[in-house]
Amino acid sequence: MPTRPCWVEICTRTLEDNFRFLAEVAAPHAELLAIVKANAYGHGLVLCAPAVVGGGTRWLGVTSVEEAVAARAVCPDARVLVIGGVFPGQGAAVVRHGLTVVAWEQWQLDELEGAARAAVGARVQVHLEVDTGMSRQGVPPGELAPLLRRFGADSPLELDGVMTHLFAADEANGLITAEQLAQMRGVLASVAAAGLKPAWCNVGNSAALLAGQAQTIGAMAAEHGMKALLRPGLALYGLAPEYDPAFDAEPATLVEARMKLRPVLSWKSRVVSVREVPAGAVVGYNGTFVATEPMRLALLAVGYADGLDRRLGNRFSLLVHGQRVPLVGRVSMDQAVVDVTEIADVLPGDEVVLIGAQGDARVTAADHARASGTIPWEIFTRIGPRVPRIAV
Ligand SMILES: *Cc1c(COP(=O)(O)O)cnc(C)c1O
Repeated sequence: MPTRPCWVEICTRTLEDNFRFLAEVAAPHAELLAIVKANAYGHGLVLCAPAVVGGGTRWLGVTSVEEAVAARAVCPDARVLVIGGVFPGQGAAVVRHGLTVVAWEQWQLDELEGAARAAVGARVQVHLEVDTGMSRQGVPPGELAPLLRRFGADSPLELDGVMTHLFAADEANGLITAEQLAQMRGVLASVAAAGLKPAWCNVGNSAALLAGQAQTIGAMAAEHGMKALLRPGLALYGLAPEYDPAFDAEPATLVEARMKLRPVLSWKSRVVSVREVPAGAVVGYNGTFVATEPMRLALLAVGYADGLDRRLGNRFSLLVHGQRVPLVGRVSMDQAVVDVTEIADVLPGDEVVLIGAQGDARVTAADHARASGTIPWEIFTRIGPRVPRIAV
């Protein structure tokens, strides 16, 4: 059955191209893990995970075991990294689906070890996360030793990687990143001194990759016979992160990325009805918009329950017939109204673009983010589950 006209189009070919471009930026210093957590940043895991695997990734990154099981169902051969860690009772699913898990707590290793021992002969690949300054997840470097002892010869746990997260790779002077990488260097030395030989040095997001950190991370990994793994998310979906304005000499990779990366997602709806209103008519809840002259208004089949930020009422515009049309009045749960007075012949059924291109005009997730005081990651991830994702 055709659905209410509010949908997302995903260009899987663009996703593959973005991945290939980013892999070239990383090569030969580092390999990439494609971040597909949170339903591939709202783009749809089932469409996106196979596409990035087609683009050449060997690794997918998700938040949870349940997301990993969903990724495994569509990508049977990929390595799937659970970056948010395992929770009590999830170890058996980790073993059954051959997942790799980020861990930094003894109880997480207990869960994984217990599950591996219960499935006789099973082994679990672990990426140990180290907190190099973000104070979010990871073991402080000074408390690493007891965790490293869990990977002895008689343990079913295998230390496949050592991971950290760079939290300020978009800041201009790079001092925080340099300090984090210095700590990571010390951590890799301790791991080697403990007689362990993990394969992967797993560090850095889109901002780190596009700031040109692959070479530094790759060199650090190579000192210990390891391979570097970087983890881009946002850039895969076609947006280069915005950097600190003080980043005045943008790195060459970033300048090139702004030209080469293309948005994967378009978000569209249609005009439901068009009405003429006289001067003085009020629009929407609480009449926050009052027509100053006779106007023509179009009702759209999209609202905040679909992910259109309610704060955008009276302060943002969408595209109809390739032109910007202002949102007037409050955005409702399921509907919104735009002013089409200036545009001839708008009819029910006409396409409306919330994110994407129409004619020569374009609206981006970054535009939405600026207008609603957030970041593009949040704009993408809150496009609601009732909005179908369609491959184009
Ligand atoms: C989400 C996430 C990423 C990807 O970040 P982007 O800024 O979207 O590239 C990388 N690493 C970890 C640990 C993450 O949680």
